[in-house]
Amino acid sequence: MNKAGSRHFVDVDLGDRSYQIIIGEEIISEAEKLIAPLRLGKKKIIVTDQNVARNHLISLRKALENGGHDPVDVILKPGEQTKSFSGLRELLESILKLGVDRDTCLIALGGGVVGDVAGFAASTILRGIHLIQIPTSLLAMVDSSVGGKTAINTPQGKNLVGTFYQPRLVISDTASLRTLPNRELLSGYAEIVKYGLLGDALFFEWLEENGDKVIDCNPVAIAHAVATSCRSKALIVTKDEREGGVRALLNLGHTFGHALETETGFSETLLHGEAVSIGITMAFDLSVRMGLCPGIEARRATSHLKKIGLPVALKSIEGIDWSSDRLISHMARDKKVRNGNINFVLTKGIGKAFVCEDVHMADVKAIIDKNLNS
Ligand code: NAD
Repeated sequence: MNKAGSRHFVDVDLGDRSYQIIIGEEIISEAEKLIAPLRLGKKKIIVTDQNVARNHLISLRKALENGGHDPVDVILKPGEQTKSFSGLRELLESILKLGVDRDTCLIALGGGVVGDVAGFAASTILRGIHLIQIPTSLLAMVDSSVGGKTAINTPQGKNLVGTFYQPRLVISDTASLRTLPNRELLSGYAEIVKYGLLGDALFFEWLEENGDKVIDCNPVAIAHAVATSCRSKALIVTKDEREGGVRALLNLGHTFGHALETETGFSETLLHGEAVSIGITMAFDLSVRMGLCPGIEARRATSHLKKIGLPVALKSIEGIDWSSDRLISHMARDKKVRNGNINFVLTKGIGKAFVCEDVHMADVKAIIDKNLNS
């Protein structure tokens, strides 16, 4: 990773599908300058959602227009329901009506929903047109815009239909986070903590010191946190682009978290990062119970999540009648189950996560029940 001022550059090294992530303040207004060296086609289609359009579309349009482009846009409804068969179909039709050729460049400006559905569209139109990700939520900056997974949800489950399709460039403008609702910001922060906990104890230590500044969107702190997270994800993706092995580590907290989201219907009741935060807490507790991780390390992880304002206990989520048996049955149906085995990402301490295939469900149940009573 190079660094110029508070601007960071992270390379995702995937041979002829390599790309760069550029992180900095107010860089949407420089989009044209950043995109131009890639020599993509002149036609640019911006896909965004109504919330993001209200706040950031004009500056992106202006940047492209100043470079002599005449961008067109497709504005989607915000929210998870846009990541559906009908949402994808509408998007594909809108894009095709605008007219596309192999050199058309699709720019996904928004959170993970826009990134996932626009990425999917880009990967299928004419069997693949250029894609640029301009993530505007913290979660999208540190997770969904990096690594090339695209998806929509189906009635059978979340993210069950999708593709691997790498963008040509990712532009993360940390100033765009100032319009993101605070709860969404905190939710994205859980993924940042995850990178420290799974493999970078020094970064976790830095977050313990500087987490408040990250949440306040201090430009230097947030750029460092986003860049370090992206570098961690990029390293893992470089080793295992299609999740055959080490990429599974990115699921720390997600096996539990996904079950919680299934139970709450992937609704506003529990945001993804909030579920991950409780999931990380449970993964550490399970590791302690199995004699893998010192209790003091688990307490450190949990107390940081709590201090920053993320939930760590099920009962802090109001209006849900949690049941450990039901959560376990959700886990058994998770798409990450392989040959009937539920693989958990467990840990030997902060920065020492590993995939464990040998977990007794009685221990999982005990941990959920303990959390319910905590
Ligand atoms: P999101 O895209 O729904 O964004 C959250 C909310 O914030 C939305 O209402 C959006 O309109 C709004 N928003 C986004 N940026 C804003 C800004 N700068 N100012 C004001 N409002 C803004 O949700 P998300 O948390 O960004 O992403 C969640 C999605 O990402 C899920 O569908 C999840 O499955 C997916 N995801 C994908 C990957 C991957 O690898 N592809 C990884 C993790 C998550």
